[in-house]
Amino acid sequence: MTEDPIIVLGAGCAGLMAARRLREKGRPVLLVEAEDHVGGLAGGITLGGDVYEYGPHVFHTTDADILADIKTLMGGDLLPYERTIQIKFLGNYFKFPLAMPDVLLKLPLTTVLHAAGSFAYHFVKGALVKPAQENSETLLQRYYGDVLYRLFFKDYIQRVWGIPPSDFSPSFARERIPRLNILDFLDKAAAAARKVFSSGDAMKTEGYVEKLEGQLWTTKKGFSMICERMAADALKKGARLRLCARVLSLRREGGRVAAVELEHGGKSEVVPCSGIVNTLAINEAARMFTPSLGDAVAAAAEAIRFRAIVFVGLKVRRPKALRASFMYFREHSFNRITDLAHFGFHMDPPGTTLLVAEVACDPKDSIWTDESVAVEAVVADLVREDILDRAEVISAHVFRARHAHPMYTLGYEVALKTLLDAFAGLSNVETAGRQGRFQYVNTHVAMKMGLDAADRLDAKLENGVRLSNL
Ligand SMILES: Cc1cc2nc3c(=O)[nH]c(=O)nc-3n(C[C@H](O)[C@H](O)[C@H](O)COP(=O)(O)OP(=O)(O)OC[C@H]3O[C@@H](n4cnc5c(N)ncnc54)[C@H](O)[C@@H]3O)c2cc1C
Repeated sequence: MTEDPIIVLGAGCAGLMAARRLREKGRPVLLVEAEDHVGGLAGGITLGGDVYEYGPHVFHTTDADILADIKTLMGGDLLPYERTIQIKFLGNYFKFPLAMPDVLLKLPLTTVLHAAGSFAYHFVKGALVKPAQENSETLLQRYYGDVLYRLFFKDYIQRVWGIPPSDFSPSFARERIPRLNILDFLDKAAAAARKVFSSGDAMKTEGYVEKLEGQLWTTKKGFSMICERMAADALKKGARLRLCARVLSLRREGGRVAAVELEHGGKSEVVPCSGIVNTLAINEAARMFTPSLGDAVAAAAEAIRFRAIVFVGLKVRRPKALRASFMYFREHSFNRITDLAHFGFHMDPPGTTLLVAEVACDPKDSIWTDESVAVEAVVADLVREDILDRAEVISAHVFRARHAHPMYTLGYEVALKTLLDAFAGLSNVETAGRQGRFQYVNTHVAMKMGLDAADRLDAKLENGVRLSNL
C-alpha cells in the first residue's frame, strides 16, 4: 500500500523548506498553495508584465547552514546588496536606525536638550524602577526617553498599526524597534562576547528576535527567484506541488489529521494524508479543523490579530524616483515606499522604474476594499511630497497581504500558547513559519522553522509507527 503524503499547507519560505527536508527524509510530500505562484510574502507578483514584490525583500541570515544552502541553490545569481533607509520627519530626512549625530544635528537645539534630559531620566529610572505593567510604551520610553518616543514612535505606531504602543506587549518594541545606536552597540558587544564564550549553537527560532546582521543579498529578479529555486529543488527531490489549491478544512480523527479538504478550480476535493505541516496563519488554520478543536481554541483564534497591508505598485517614467531604496513617512497614506531601481533589477523599457508603496490597514478599511481609493491616496501623496508628477505614472496595480504582520497586542502570549499547545497535541501535525507560529520573523527564520517542523514531524511519525508495532 502506498503511504499517504504529508501535506504541506502553503508554499512560502517555511513550506518550501519543509517540503524539501521531508523529501530528503524519504517522505511523500504534497505542497498546496492558494496562489498561482510560490513564495508567499517573499514571492513575486506579475502585474501588467512587471514583477512586483510585497515590499522588495532582501535576504540575510545568521544561520550558516541556511546561507550555505541558499548559496548552493542560487550560485552566481545571489548578489550582495547595500540597502539605504531614510525617514522623513519634521521636514528632515533621518537615517534609520536612528543615529545620535543625525538626531542631534537635525532637531532644534531646545528639543535636543529636552530629549537628552528625558533620555537620561528614563534610562536611570528604568534601571531602578520596574513599571506596574510593562508594555511597548514603557519600554520605548526607556530606550529613547519620553521626548524622542513621542516625536518618533507614538503617533507613527498608532498610524501604522491602528492601536497605540501602550496596547502592545513589550515584545513588540523589543523585537521590532532598534535601540539608539549607542545602546545597540552595547547590546551587540555583549552578544559578541557571549558568542565567543559559548559553543556557537545553531539559530533557535522560538523567541528569536529579528536582527539585521551580516551581508544582505538579493538576486537580479528579487527575492522571488530564491523562492522559485527552492520550489524547483523540492520538485526535483520528488515533492508534488498544487498551485491555486486553497485549503478549506482539516479533517480530524481523534488526535490526528486524516485528510485535507482543498478547493481547486471551483471544485472541492478531500485528500487523505499521513500528516501536515501548517504554514497558514495559525488562527485561520485552527478554525479549519472538523470536528473543531473546542471553545478555548476558538476563543484564542479570535484573540490574535494580524495587520494587513495594501501594496500600490506604480510603474513610472523615471530612471530612479527615490533618494534611498527604502523610505519611511509619517504624514502619508503609505508608511513605507521602495524604489526597485535601487535594487539593480532590469527595467523595461529603460528609463522607467517600479515603486511599491505599503499602506498598513485593516480589511474593513476602504483602502483595502477599494483599489481606486488606494491608488489615488498614494499618487496624491507622492505628488504632494514632490516625488512624482501624475503624468509620470504609466500604470498602477494594487495587491494585498491579509496576514502581513502578527500584532503582539497586550496578552497575546496567552492566546498564542493555547493555539500552539492545541497543534502540539495532535500526533501528526506541525505548525511553522511567520504565520504558522505568529512570530514577527524574516525569511531565514521562517525557513529554519520549516526545516525544524519537518524534522519534528518525521520523528513524530517514526515514533507513531514504532508504538503501533509494539
Ligand atoms: C512588507 C514586508 C516586508 C518584508 N521584508 C523582508 C525582507 O526584506 N527580508 C526578509 O527576510 N523578510 C522580510 N519579510 C518577512 C518575510 O516575508 C516572512 O518572514 C516570510 O516570507 C514568511 O514565510 P512563511 O512561509 O512563514 O509565510 P508566508 O510567506 O505568508 O506563506 C504562507 C503561504 O500560505 C499560503 N496560504 C494562505 N492561506 C492558504 C490556504 N487557505 N490554502 C493554501 N495556501 C494558503 C499563502 O498564499 C502563502 O504562500 C517581510 C514581510 C513583510 C510583510
